[in-house]
Amino acid sequence: MTYGGGMPPLRRPLALITALFIGLLAVVAAPAAHAAPDVTDAVSALRAGDTVYSDPNAENALSSAEISRLTAAANASGIPMFIAVLPESAAGGGSADDVLVALNGEIGMAGVYAVVVGNQFRAGSTSGSASDLATQAFRAQRDNGVAAVLDEFIALASARAAGGSPATADTSAGGDGTAVLVVFGLLIVGGAVVVIVLIRRQRRITAKQLVAVRSAIDQDVTQYGERLAGLDLKDPDLDEAAREDIQRALDDYDRARSAVRAMSHPNDAAAVTSALEDGRYALACAEARLDNQPIPDRRPPCFVDPRHGPSVTDLLWAPPGLGERDVPVCAACRTTIETGGTPAGLDVETMDGQRRPYYQAGREFGAYAQGYYSPFTGVMGAVLMGTMLSSMWHSPGYTTSDLNTAGMGGSDDTFGGGGFGDFGGGGFGGGDFGGGGFGGGDF
Ligand SMILES: [Zn+2]
Repeated sequence: MTYGGGMPPLRRPLALITALFIGLLAVVAAPAAHAAPDVTDAVSALRAGDTVYSDPNAENALSSAEISRLTAAANASGIPMFIAVLPESAAGGGSADDVLVALNGEIGMAGVYAVVVGNQFRAGSTSGSASDLATQAFRAQRDNGVAAVLDEFIALASARAAGGSPATADTSAGGDGTAVLVVFGLLIVGGAVVVIVLIRRQRRITAKQLVAVRSAIDQDVTQYGERLAGLDLKDPDLDEAAREDIQRALDDYDRARSAVRAMSHPNDAAAVTSALEDGRYALACAEARLDNQPIPDRRPPCFVDPRHGPSVTDLLWAPPGLGERDVPVCAACRTTIETGGTPAGLDVETMDGQRRPYYQAGREFGAYAQGYYSPFTGVMGAVLMGTMLSSMWHSPGYTTSDLNTAGMGGSDDTFGGGGFGDFGGGGFGGGDFGGGGFGGGDF
């Protein structure tokens, strides 16, 4: 599992040219004035880690069972999917295509996007082509309702991703020689501008995410360092084994600090927190030896706040805002919960300046949590159910880096590699494929 955030070179020139072409069409063929689509709630939910968002006021709102089923299927695909079911009013008088474009623009991540707006189903992908799959899914399942169409679409998109051969857009164009070349050249220039703007936008987002994660990491390392400062390796009560434990804890501190210095992406946090996890376990071992207690089992860090060190047991508990589940807790948190209290959890500052529990602070904290909990994934999948990090645990190896790259042929800078794919394929210019819309259909 890697957390690196390298930028692969641009691949698939055809896809890039298609992206540029489509990008300019988006600019040229801007729709007539109407209210902007309202995708605020969907964007919040999907950016935060949900895979499927259904507005309760939507004409075709999904049941919670349908949301769970579709989420599981989409997450199992290993490719990022963003699915929203919205009321017709969300289009603000525009079309479902506008909503799809707005959703993609606001979320700004590579992946497969699908919307149901009122009775219209549209889908597209930032890389390769999903619109034909959307049309295919719609035709096959329209009589069975919205959930069945989405089921089918997810299955088709998953199968295509697994096959590793995303369909390329049909770029066949008629017309003659020079005029086509001139127009095409203009389109490339215009499209390049759009792509550059999007790359810069993604860089700004990544920079803000890095600041937020770095802040949490710095506090974490400081807290650990303060704990270490209270230890004395020359303490005559320490036996050889305890000294070795403490030495290991000190080495982990050095490892964590080096990893902090090397951080250039939120995903790099995993190297820091995995060192801290190891160090806190070593400290727990040293303390046990000093107290003539048995060496503790290697258990996941306390879920309430991983800085508490290794958990001692699992306890049925409903973390604030979440349903009841068995969570690993340290001895102090166990006492607090068992006596009816609420333990003070680890809140971090999000990139929007809000304070939230680390598991609800956004996917950029995925690697931070993963460094702590990845040796214990079997446990954490259930513990993190319903949190912003749940999708990462349901898809092994799924990190925030993968959000931008997994199976999509993209780069770390969203849209940089895969380009727009079929985004805008026909919807934007009324054009060449799809016959005037994204794939999908109207119920
Ligand atoms: Zn605790």
